[in-house]
Amino acid sequence: MEEADLLEEHQQLQQQLQSFVERARENEHKMRRFHEQELNLIGSRTLPDLLQNILYNYRRSFSLDAVTLVLYDPEYEIRRILEEEGSRVSEQPNLIFITQQDNLTSLYGPDLQPRLSNFEHQYHQTLFSQLSQSYMPLRSVALLPLVRYDKLIGSFNLGSFSEERFAEKSGTEFLQRLTTIMAICIENATNNERLKRVGLTDTLTGINNRRFFDQRLQEEIGRSIRANDPISCLFIDIDYFKNINDQYGHQNGDVVLRKIASLIRAQLRNCDVIARYSGEEFVVLLANTAPDIATEIAERIRLSIAASPISLMEIESSVPITVSIGISSLTDTQGMENTRILGFSLVDNADHALYDAKSDGRNRVALYLHDNYSKNSGQHYANTSARAKQ
Ligand code: GH3
Ligand code: MG
Ligand code: MG
Repeated sequence: MEEADLLEEHQQLQQQLQSFVERARENEHKMRRFHEQELNLIGSRTLPDLLQNILYNYRRSFSLDAVTLVLYDPEYEIRRILEEEGSRVSEQPNLIFITQQDNLTSLYGPDLQPRLSNFEHQYHQTLFSQLSQSYMPLRSVALLPLVRYDKLIGSFNLGSFSEERFAEKSGTEFLQRLTTIMAICIENATNNERLKRVGLTDTLTGINNRRFFDQRLQEEIGRSIRANDPISCLFIDIDYFKNINDQYGHQNGDVVLRKIASLIRAQLRNCDVIARYSGEEFVVLLANTAPDIATEIAERIRLSIAASPISLMEIESSVPITVSIGISSLTDTQGMENTRILGFSLVDNADHALYDAKSDGRNRVALYLHDNYSKNSGQHYANTSARAKQ
């Protein structure tokens, strides 16, 4: 071989080697970014956090033009969880919920493999509809199935303005690994939320239990102190409930408890906290509510229950049920600190007022007048029994 040939071969080899090194470096860089995303997913502490990571961090980290997530949510459970956690589902157009699994299976077919292709309006538009206003059309997409135990639970969809970005034959190894982790994380976070709710829900009535209430009480009082907003508490007790059990059996007693819980719930705003405190006692926390409004709400609850006789099992006529309600409020919390003590006295005072409503004859509302500046200055009750008798 001539020296010139050798030199040329050497140069070619050098170039090849250089391009391998560059490719390896690129791959390493890419792998590092994927790894980072995986850690982000695994590290998300709540379901809203996780979805935020999936929808926004990923898009930013990989400079994508569109990222959407479809989740199969047949019983609206995930949507309910997210709303309860304070995330506004309707304001997240790139998070799409479906109730029919067919819509997902038709995207992937039976092999459940990623689909990389050019953007085709008729198949892909609904997945990226949040971009319909965009001035740039998507040119290529990657649809990645989220699978758990051979079942599709959703689809992670990436879109690009460039036609080459998701060419049909591109490798999808990294993406597949990421979506496997993503599917596990989504299921895990949803299960955690489910568990949290089971532990904080009263199984008989489906409303929250006392444990949940005690947690929220501190949080709500903390919030009311920071904003210097009033906060009110209603303590609601079913009148002569023991008689219902004795006369109609405890199963009918349970029917009454469920119905009363739903009648109370129906009079409240979404942000109000309602819980079964014990046996036939319910407690309601009204954030940002002064005593006069709390009294109106309590009256509304009392009247709606008195006006709704409850039909029982194997009993022909419906049975009238009434409740008594004690109210207490914190109206000026500025400078106060101990949320535990404030919470305790808020509930305790409502319970005192309830006692008054009971001894005044039941089926009525009583308000505990709280003097914020001299807490032990005595108790005053504004009895609303005049209204209650109407
Ligand atoms: P008052 O008007 O003074 O409140 O009288 P009351 O009969 O409602 O009050 P009391 O405290 O004497 O009775 C409460 C009853 O609630 C006694 C208890 O057996 C019953 N109870 C508590 N938990 C449950 C439950 O989960 N299911 C049923 N069916 N009854 C329950
Ligand atoms: Mg009681
Ligand atoms: Mg009772």
